[in-house]
Amino acid sequence: MGYKKASFIENIAEKIGIIPNLHKEKYQEFDNDMRHFTDEEVAQLYENFPPPEKWNNWVEYDPKVWPKKKKTTYQIVPTTCFNCESACGLTAFIDKETQEVKKFEGNPYHPGSRGRNCAKGPATINQITDPDRILYPLKRKGKRGDGEWERITWDEALDTISARIRKAIMEKRHNEIAYHVGRPGHEKFMNWILQGWGIDGHNSHTNICSSGARFGYNIWYGYDRPSPDHANAKFILLISAHLESGHYFNPHAQRIIEGKMKGAKLATMDPRLSNTASMSDYWLPTYPGTEAAVLLAMVKIILEEGLYNREYLENWTNWQEYLKARHSDKAITFENYIAAMIAEYKEFTPEFAEKESGVKAETTIEIARLIGEAGERFASHNWRAAAASNLGGWAVARCLHFLTVLTGAVGAKGGTSPNSWNKFSPTQPNPPKPQKVWNELHFPKEYPLAFFEMSQLLPHFLKEGRGFMDVYFSRVFNPVWTYPDGFTWMEMFQDESKFGLHTALTPTWNETAFYADFVLPMGLASERHDINSYATHGGTWVAFRQPVLREAARRNGNPVEYTYQANPGEVWEEDEFWIELSWRIDPDGSMGIRKHFESPYRPGEKIKIGEYYQYIFERVKGLPETAKKERLTELEYMQKYGSFEIEKGESYKMNEKPVSEDKLEGSVVDPVNNVIRKDGKDIGVMINGKAVVGFPTPSRKNEFYSQTMVDWKWPEYATPTYIKSHIHNDTLDKSKGEYVLIPTFRLPTLIHSRSSNAKWLVEISNRNPIWMHPDDAAKWEFKTGDLVKMNTDIGYFIDKVWVTQGMKPGTVACSHHIGRWRRPQDEAGNRWATNTVNIEGDGKGGWKMNTISGIKPYESDDKDSKRIFWKDGGVHQNITHAVHPDPISGMHCWHQRVRIEKPDSGEKYGDIFVDTNKSHEIYKEWMAMTRPALGPNGERRPLWFKRAFTPDKSEGGCYYIKE
Ligand code: SF4
Repeated sequence: MGYKKASFIENIAEKIGIIPNLHKEKYQEFDNDMRHFTDEEVAQLYENFPPPEKWNNWVEYDPKVWPKKKKTTYQIVPTTCFNCESACGLTAFIDKETQEVKKFEGNPYHPGSRGRNCAKGPATINQITDPDRILYPLKRKGKRGDGEWERITWDEALDTISARIRKAIMEKRHNEIAYHVGRPGHEKFMNWILQGWGIDGHNSHTNICSSGARFGYNIWYGYDRPSPDHANAKFILLISAHLESGHYFNPHAQRIIEGKMKGAKLATMDPRLSNTASMSDYWLPTYPGTEAAVLLAMVKIILEEGLYNREYLENWTNWQEYLKARHSDKAITFENYIAAMIAEYKEFTPEFAEKESGVKAETTIEIARLIGEAGERFASHNWRAAAASNLGGWAVARCLHFLTVLTGAVGAKGGTSPNSWNKFSPTQPNPPKPQKVWNELHFPKEYPLAFFEMSQLLPHFLKEGRGFMDVYFSRVFNPVWTYPDGFTWMEMFQDESKFGLHTALTPTWNETAFYADFVLPMGLASERHDINSYATHGGTWVAFRQPVLREAARRNGNPVEYTYQANPGEVWEEDEFWIELSWRIDPDGSMGIRKHFESPYRPGEKIKIGEYYQYIFERVKGLPETAKKERLTELEYMQKYGSFEIEKGESYKMNEKPVSEDKLEGSVVDPVNNVIRKDGKDIGVMINGKAVVGFPTPSRKNEFYSQTMVDWKWPEYATPTYIKSHIHNDTLDKSKGEYVLIPTFRLPTLIHSRSSNAKWLVEISNRNPIWMHPDDAAKWEFKTGDLVKMNTDIGYFIDKVWVTQGMKPGTVACSHHIGRWRRPQDEAGNRWATNTVNIEGDGKGGWKMNTISGIKPYESDDKDSKRIFWKDGGVHQNITHAVHPDPISGMHCWHQRVRIEKPDSGEKYGDIFVDTNKSHEIYKEWMAMTRPALGPNGERRPLWFKRAFTPDKSEGGCYYIKE
């Protein structure tokens, strides 16, 4: 690569300043040899980005009036993007004169994103200026779901909700209060709030997202997410689409490309030719759900060919425990361990993997050897994708980590570390103790190993009378649309004996907010506080999401007390809302709640939001010293730069960190497994005579053999295994037109149901046709644009076909972002992306939806709304899916068995039908696969497993089931 020499005309244009000079020295260096540059040097090359000392007074010409030269003076305020979980840095350009945000650019000082964003970052400007956004708190009039609303004050909302929570807590109905979150972030903020109230009230979307992979990683080494060091890797294997959309997408994509520029090879497993697969050296289009078979074939080759890292396996896997449990007739020697593993995986030949997956045996062999050769520099990631789609999908992540263990790449430079090693965890003021209650609507007995709350089953639990939600919050959460089986959610939301009071905290209208009692407008990326820290690379950072107009007002000497005073309308933010609500639940402090929300600096008084963050930032390693150098407080430093790099890559091999002398004093070493214990807690492990911290598992090592799986009634999965998916080829009847539908992929420009208020993004992506290989299309005599009826187990949806070579034959796919809707009676919202639909129930569980009209131009303050040229808003598919909770991880298994048909003559594009009786039957079928608690000693869940919002673990307490 390299820039072309400047042409004569370019030379002149550059010299006289008509175009930027791209041929001066530094640009050439950047182009030729970027790999040798440090992060700082790369950042310096962003020389066109305003330097921080000019952020309060930055002058630019207004591009909209070109060729006139009109100067605008901006204040530049950093914040972070809210459009996916990467939390890349943004800088808001605020017109100094009008105090309006004019645009967003990247923040070069953000160590994760380093100034770069995907299309969704700058599109934040569309979201904050969307003419349909909700600007004031609203209360429903008439029946829930009827679509009538009235404006209220924040005080009315706060008083009504807090009184109801107070009553429930006083009456010991703690488990009737729940907060259900779609887009998290917030770094422990909600633990502080909900545990401060003493409730087990957190419910998340994680079981429709990532809990499958989390379980697979956790069962090995006690950490539930990987942090691949792509930039330093030699071989990268992705079971996801990280160059376009996976977790920590933009920061990871940058580093994958850096790794490739230094010579790394990239392989991607995906039945769909994603943009990522198309950029890879190897595309492995596995039949969905067979990925673990291919990975185990690679394991077998690495073992048989001696390509493993002997020292790592010997020191850092629990092989002695495995041999004792499974091969008690054999001597406990390392050679016997290797021989036993080879025997255990003998059926996983590359030919068997080819039969299962369709991936050629020679490709599997070639990649296995490259992984073995990469050794510690083997980086990999499985996010959502296969682990989130299949019965036993968690086994895919487990088998992938097996390769990381074999190569010794766990925590190595260029390898794959645990996520927590690259993530900051805040210390909060007045932290509450763990709650003493356990909410079985979130973690029921049937799912003792479920890695997160069984949120997808909540409506079924309510339907069969397992409980009641007296006070329910949905926050940036849209289960009616995003979750499987949305009609069952609608049925339950409409029933006030199931949901007493539903408050939707949301920046925009959505299909779930239509069924709320209060709709409370919450800020977008640039209108709220949060801290973010993610494992984007081998390093650790913390970033500050802040309300930019509030910060500009502070800099200008006009500080406000609450964020809604600076935001548009009365748009608030969750942080201040929760503090205010908590204070009103316990106004006199008698319930023991208020004390958690008092200022750490002004005893007895309500904490201010700035104090909360100052308290945290004072405790960030290295930040006080750095801030002091600039004569700033820690909070002022973060308000100025928006992020801080805590460490740059010293966090490799943290398992080898010595246990400190203090900790060792009074400890004992277990004579069987060398685990070091003190005061009933495991604190480390002896490795070759040295006391080191190890991993947070019972053996303090990577657990090839899991006694936990045996103890919790799944002995067949004690070691890494391949589990045949619910959509395995054996279970489909091809003669009846049955196919696998892959409904999980993201389009790079959209994000779940959060981007429909961004006109630029919807302009780019506004349809979700069914991807179909030409061979399958020929069989059905389909061509692109033809209607297709997709029959699921509980109903159907009618979509259009897109014929493409990019789909594995025998499988079809549909993007999960599109098909947004509103009913005629609903408030206009997201009109860039929503169809107007009619919904009719037959009163017996049968529900029909049909499209009345697609997307149309409309009059508004934004002239672009009259210029909408697209008409097709796509089709809602998730609502036709039944719940498929994996019996172990709890993950919803997204892949669907579908029967493909040509629609009847009266059936139209966008028609949907669902029978919720059938969906409840399927729920029961999957529940019947579970093996409920108790575990050892009456435990509800293995004590060493992490749990979100961990309750009190005292013996005999809520962590134990009293029979
Ligand atoms: S990857 Fe894109 S959407 Fe995600 S945080 Fe970064 S800029 Fe925003």
